[in-house]
Amino acid sequence: MATYRELLKQVKDRIEEVDARQARELDGAAWVDVREQDEWDEGHIPGAAHVPRGNLESRIENVVPDRSTPVVIYCASGNRSAFAVESLRALGYESAVSLVGGYTDWKRNGFDITIPRKLSPERRARYSRHLLIPEIGEEGQLKLLDSKILLIGAGGLGSPASLYLAAAGVGTIGIIDADIVDESNLQRQIAHSLNTLGTPKVDSARRTIEALNPDVEVTTYRERLTSDNIDRILDDGWDIIVDGADNFPTRYLVNDASVWRGIPVVHGSIYRFEGQVTVFKPGDGPCYRCLYPSPPPPELAPSCAEGGVLGVLPGIVGTLQTNEALKLAAGIGDPLVGRLLLFDALATDFTEVHIKRNPECPVCGEHPSITEYIDYVEFCTR
Ligand SMILES: [Zn+2]
Repeated sequence: MATYRELLKQVKDRIEEVDARQARELDGAAWVDVREQDEWDEGHIPGAAHVPRGNLESRIENVVPDRSTPVVIYCASGNRSAFAVESLRALGYESAVSLVGGYTDWKRNGFDITIPRKLSPERRARYSRHLLIPEIGEEGQLKLLDSKILLIGAGGLGSPASLYLAAAGVGTIGIIDADIVDESNLQRQIAHSLNTLGTPKVDSARRTIEALNPDVEVTTYRERLTSDNIDRILDDGWDIIVDGADNFPTRYLVNDASVWRGIPVVHGSIYRFEGQVTVFKPGDGPCYRCLYPSPPPPELAPSCAEGGVLGVLPGIVGTLQTNEALKLAAGIGDPLVGRLLLFDALATDFTEVHIKRNPECPVCGEHPSITEYIDYVEFCTR
């Protein structure tokens, strides 16, 4: 019976080994790291796929579907990889080779390495239900933690959005709102409570978010969005805007700025029992002005005081907006770009309307006629 040393030597005689220089010259090679998770986490070769030795035979076909692809296998020192290459050759990977000296030599020679970012044990526990979804996982959660999402308004739509974005671990949430929490808000604006009546909504929302998730940094702007402050606020570097504005001037400002800066806007609006959601993604689908090039005259717009709304409706629309924002932040799924989702709460009916980019759009069209901010006269939207 062969000893380990003898077996290793026999295997190495049968397979092909390459050094780092030779390996780097292999055109179109797939690199596979067969070490254990904790070794991978300490650092690995950039571009390599991680398939622990114990899973190699069962997972290699998913990682390298074409058996004629050259495969460079490495471990820490070149022994586990030698056995791995023998296994791969038996599976038909004729061009599989083992990296002599493994990761240890690679690193010692000063070649590039990648040290993966990791979630702390506390974060792994908090976001475990995200980590269990393959589409999100640790990488997706890190993306959420890195993302910066700006909420326009901390009212009906902004309340559920702020809570679910915070719970999901969006690392930075910005909130713009000039209002104070009023008793009539509590019928639907769930970020606020009796404890915060009379305080600015941005402070009230911040308290709620901070009580929910300390991972979230909250940036507040207690002001109305205008042409004077929009650039200062957007200069803070927001990746996504969730628009919960209840008035036309803000909506147009947000639209024009987002087109010029290339920031996707998750749009939502509500009125009585009806809600609408869509995503305006600059360069991909229409913008708000493609649908409504300019606001209606003030005398035709509904007034703010008359705009009743079923309390749960902003909860439904605001969470649909949050769903879109989280997908955009994690880079998964199909966003509601070019699709306007209409919700009728009385009928419990969802309808989707396709919306197109307008080549004549005054802002995102081929010959834009609007190139600077416009402050429209104050009035409310539906
Ligand atoms: Zn447009």
